[in-house]
Amino acid sequence: MSQVRVRFAPSPTGSFHIGSARTALFNWLYARHTGGAFVLRIEDTDRERNTPEALRVLLNGMRWLGLNWDEGPEVGGSFGPYFQSERETIYQEYLAQLRDRGCVYDKDNAVWFRISGEAQVIEDAVRGRIERREEKDFVIFRSNGTPVFHFVNVVDDIAMGITHVIRGEDHISNTSKHLELFKAFGAPIPVFAHIPLILRSDGKGKMSKKSDQGVAVEYYEKHCYLSEALRNYLCLLGWSPKDNREILPIETIIEIFELSGINKNGARFDASKLDVINTEYLRQLPLEDFVKLARPLLLSAGTINEKTDEHYLREVLRISQEKVRFLEDLPEFVDYFFKDEFPYDEKTRKKLFKGGDPLARLEELRAELERTDDFGEENLMAIVQSLAEAQGRGTRDYIHVTRLAVSGKPVGPGFYALLGVLGKERVLRRMINFS
Ligand code: GLU
Repeated sequence: MSQVRVRFAPSPTGSFHIGSARTALFNWLYARHTGGAFVLRIEDTDRERNTPEALRVLLNGMRWLGLNWDEGPEVGGSFGPYFQSERETIYQEYLAQLRDRGCVYDKDNAVWFRISGEAQVIEDAVRGRIERREEKDFVIFRSNGTPVFHFVNVVDDIAMGITHVIRGEDHISNTSKHLELFKAFGAPIPVFAHIPLILRSDGKGKMSKKSDQGVAVEYYEKHCYLSEALRNYLCLLGWSPKDNREILPIETIIEIFELSGINKNGARFDASKLDVINTEYLRQLPLEDFVKLARPLLLSAGTINEKTDEHYLREVLRISQEKVRFLEDLPEFVDYFFKDEFPYDEKTRKKLFKGGDPLARLEELRAELERTDDFGEENLMAIVQSLAEAQGRGTRDYIHVTRLAVSGKPVGPGFYALLGVLGKERVLRRMINFS
């Protein structure tokens, strides 16, 4: 079989919609699975809406998701140009072909395509057999001289040697027009795969730009999601490995991805599931990579500065990585490691004081801690346990108030790890300050 050539053909209009990203992703996966070429073609015939800014957002989103293209803007290729706005001559040549074949006529200054009127059938790789019939001739060049979507879309698929058209099912209604055109050109008809729309989480209707937060890829980049996590989640929208696994390395997905594995039914966008997957990816990152992501974030939040001790920062991140849910929350999650003044969580404070004499417990533990220089987790745990035992109390009587005193918060990294990383000096100082 000749080389697979697929394309993603967006019309950039300002934000990179999750649904478009998923279409791009499925094309990319199929190209990588088959060793074919992934072409990026910009369908920018609507000059007013397709701004340079919209293009920038799109290319940036594609790169962020790791969807590298083999041909297209900025990388070139032998089937260019890859912007429809630059392909006018090609469209004129193809129009001339149709004229020669007697497939078009002029009326009202527009160019009309003469349909065959025959039933058009495709064996869609996702939906199975689709049969549609065009009832009326249709315009392929408007009276102002600009070509219509159906025409440029098919011409480019032919001229670029596209073998598989993987696109949203909102285009099913266009297939009869497109098939009529392919046949009029005498061109081979690509395999079609129409993928299901992404539905809102309540299942009511498709995701739209206006009503749904988090509908754009930029949103997730801005809110510090891991692009690998979003990509993994998008893979699951309409496709699944047959064994219920959800978190898979992209190399594995590439290996097992097949068009026949794409689901016919609309896929529901489940933001909380994405969050769970994202957190899981965050936890699985090698510490090295977590530090790389965290440092610029903490710098720009002002949590740390250029002088912050590298080893200390690493230790803070080591014990926080398994507890923080979102990277975006990290500055707030770790701020007390880097400054002695912080507010104490009021609710926790009230609760503690209602339940007894937390200051007495704090002082008991402080006195014990003062006597040791070993702030290793094991030793700290042994100290708290034997103190609790000696006083006939639970370890939590010491842990909760101490955590509040040294961090201001009711939750955070593991208690003993927290004390260990803060170190004796900070811990004792903060315990005294709280009293
Ligand atoms: N520009 C069209 C879109 O954005 C592409 C349709 C297709 O993939 O054939 O939906």
